[in-house]
Amino acid sequence: MIRLSKSVLDQQEVDRVSDVLLNCGYLGMGTYVGDFELKLENYLGNNEYKAVCVNSGTAALHLALASVTEPGNEVLVPSYTFVSTYQAIIAAGCKPISCEINYETLLLDLDDCEKRITPQTTVILPVFFGSNISNYDEVYLFAKKHSLRVVEDAAHCFGCIHNGRKIGAQGDIVCFSFDGIKNITSGEGGAIISSNKEVLRYVRDARLLGVCNDLEKRYVGKRSWDFDVINPGLRYHMSNIFAAIGMSQLEKLEPFFAPRRQEVYDSYVDKLSNVSGIKLIHFNLNDRIVHHIFPILVTNGKRNKLRAYLEANGVQTGVQYKPNHLLSLFHEDYDLPITIKVYAEELSLPMHPEVTEEDVVFITKLIKDFLSK
Ligand SMILES: *Cc1c(COP(=O)(O)O)cnc(C)c1O
Repeated sequence: MIRLSKSVLDQQEVDRVSDVLLNCGYLGMGTYVGDFELKLENYLGNNEYKAVCVNSGTAALHLALASVTEPGNEVLVPSYTFVSTYQAIIAAGCKPISCEINYETLLLDLDDCEKRITPQTTVILPVFFGSNISNYDEVYLFAKKHSLRVVEDAAHCFGCIHNGRKIGAQGDIVCFSFDGIKNITSGEGGAIISSNKEVLRYVRDARLLGVCNDLEKRYVGKRSWDFDVINPGLRYHMSNIFAAIGMSQLEKLEPFFAPRRQEVYDSYVDKLSNVSGIKLIHFNLNDRIVHHIFPILVTNGKRNKLRAYLEANGVQTGVQYKPNHLLSLFHEDYDLPITIKVYAEELSLPMHPEVTEEDVVFITKLIKDFLSK
């Protein structure tokens, strides 16, 4: 079976975790988390932007939203995203306003967003699906025009570069996920990145039950027993164990993971770009992309049959994602026709650092054979 996605780890992560387990004496949020945050900031490369690690990408989105919204605020979001994005909006007490996507990029359609703005709208939440950041500037122009905050769901985008800067080294509030299959993993985990002082102060406390200013002490291995709480908070902090895995993975991103993902992408595009019945996603060629997934659109109505054929031949695929406005909790009465069309056509092919050239040849040959029948 060729897997759709995969965590890629080796002895290096085992050694780092062993070090925490055997030598550190504290598995919670301590020095390793502080070190991981510094390493993330150095990697992203803009010292105005600080990283706040939490225990999932969902938690990152929840706290990022809570830091800039009041309950009842409306958040413009593509229906076409992982359900995590929507649950984070609900958790922050806000209302997700399902918006349409563009058929070429699968990113937010800003004309549709504009129609859905009300006096309660305070945030636009772009999801950079498939690591595609080609609407980045448009989103920020839109946010400026309508005085909205931007919370980026950059779960697919770790390592991507736009306008010469990494995602997470520009913009308003950026949320990454380090869950098991993302561009880098910390086992489970996520990070909020911002240069905004109020946002940083809020999320640093909110991830530790709202306890004010506990951080400096924790990063030198101490705790405060006399404290105040001003805002709501949760147990959303990252543990030393997860930070140790994350640090090791971060060191492998540039030398290994990113070039391998690029090779897999290039090979797929080379073999699928002129196949009738298949449509590829449009990227901005000036961006540097670290491809988290490889989505294609099967435009001849045969997606489900192709999926079954690949599965029968040992190739695992995915359909990402079921549109959220079709789910009971988030149901909307209006239509999002492009979203529905994409949901019927989208197929994610295996994409991770251990997909080989032979795998891509095998998978694309199966696809071509099937479509020519
Ligand atoms: C992975 C993912 C998340 C959530 O991250 P977790 O770490 O799994 O909580 C949010 N949005 C998108 C688009 C994702 O792919």
